[in-house]
Amino acid sequence: MTVTTMMHASETGAPAHHTANGFRNPFPGFEEKGFVDVLQWQLDRMRGKSPKKPKAYRFDMAENDGKCLRDNRADFTVTWIGHSTLLLQMQGMNILTDPMWSERCSPVGFAGPKRYVDPGIKFEDLPGIDIVLISHDHYDHLDKATIRRLGNKPFYLVPLGVGAFLQQQGIRRFKELDWGDKTTIDEIDFYCTPAQHFSGRALKGRNKTLWCSWAVKGQSGSFYYTGDTGYFDGIKEIGNKLGPFDLVAVPIGAYLPRWFMAGVHVDPAEAVQVYLDLQGKIFVPIHWGTFDLADEPLDEPPRLLFEEVEKQGLDKSLFWQLKHGETRIISSDEGERMAIAAEVQEEK
Ligand code: ZN
Ligand code: ZN
Repeated sequence: MTVTTMMHASETGAPAHHTANGFRNPFPGFEEKGFVDVLQWQLDRMRGKSPKKPKAYRFDMAENDGKCLRDNRADFTVTWIGHSTLLLQMQGMNILTDPMWSERCSPVGFAGPKRYVDPGIKFEDLPGIDIVLISHDHYDHLDKATIRRLGNKPFYLVPLGVGAFLQQQGIRRFKELDWGDKTTIDEIDFYCTPAQHFSGRALKGRNKTLWCSWAVKGQSGSFYYTGDTGYFDGIKEIGNKLGPFDLVAVPIGAYLPRWFMAGVHVDPAEAVQVYLDLQGKIFVPIHWGTFDLADEPLDEPPRLLFEEVEKQGLDKSLFWQLKHGETRIISSDEGERMAIAAEVQEEK
């Protein structure tokens, strides 16, 4: 595996998103929410001001034993494991985003948001993972137990400051990137791009490590993984610079209440705008239907998404609402397939 990195252009002066001891959102109109706001939200919840939610949900799961994924060397595929965890297969490489197989996203095993749906593929059924992309250090995106299970087999690409956490888990094969950095691994370009969000784990300071999204461009295809983000003007610029993308994965959940969430989580309508700004072809919704993190019912986000798609007169067939565990082929590379078949034949 060859890894080459281009340094970001801003190394001469401090970039606008760097602070003396961490990072910030530099985009116009962003308002930081603090501890008092968190209290206000929780108080509103206790007073019953939040929407009533059903006690149970029914989500259909796809049956996926991972065999097709383990056999695939040529097709460009996407599989939704759940929440923000996707498996993307591209040019024979297996790429995981924010891998999360644990029962809870929390610093402790006995409390915190619990899974409503099992991971779409059992961890042991996964193909060998080559690359792990991390967007930020929140518990629902950077899971200690899963990272430990993955170990040093994959190579990790993480935003600035997240490397220390990996080292604590015994991970040596990683690279930290800043917004604007690009790394090339085996002829696939990985761009660390901005997001409007925040970071921090229990008791650790807020915004000490960076948050980001990832643009991935290879010869046979491209995708954009948004991580967690609020809507900000810079998304259009990313689209102009790096778009179009064959597939764009955008969060559609954890958006209520808007007064609290809008800065750091898009709602389904804004998610559609993100997709349009990025010049995406296929839209895959993520960050919904798995953990209960906000005030909206868990099954509401896709309903609002398709309402927006309809309203804007967009092509519904390009919006892939995947079941947990569902795999779809984005594009097939027949030539590559035949070359592999020939190689296999030769080996025999
Ligand atoms: Zn987050
Ligand atoms: Zn999240």
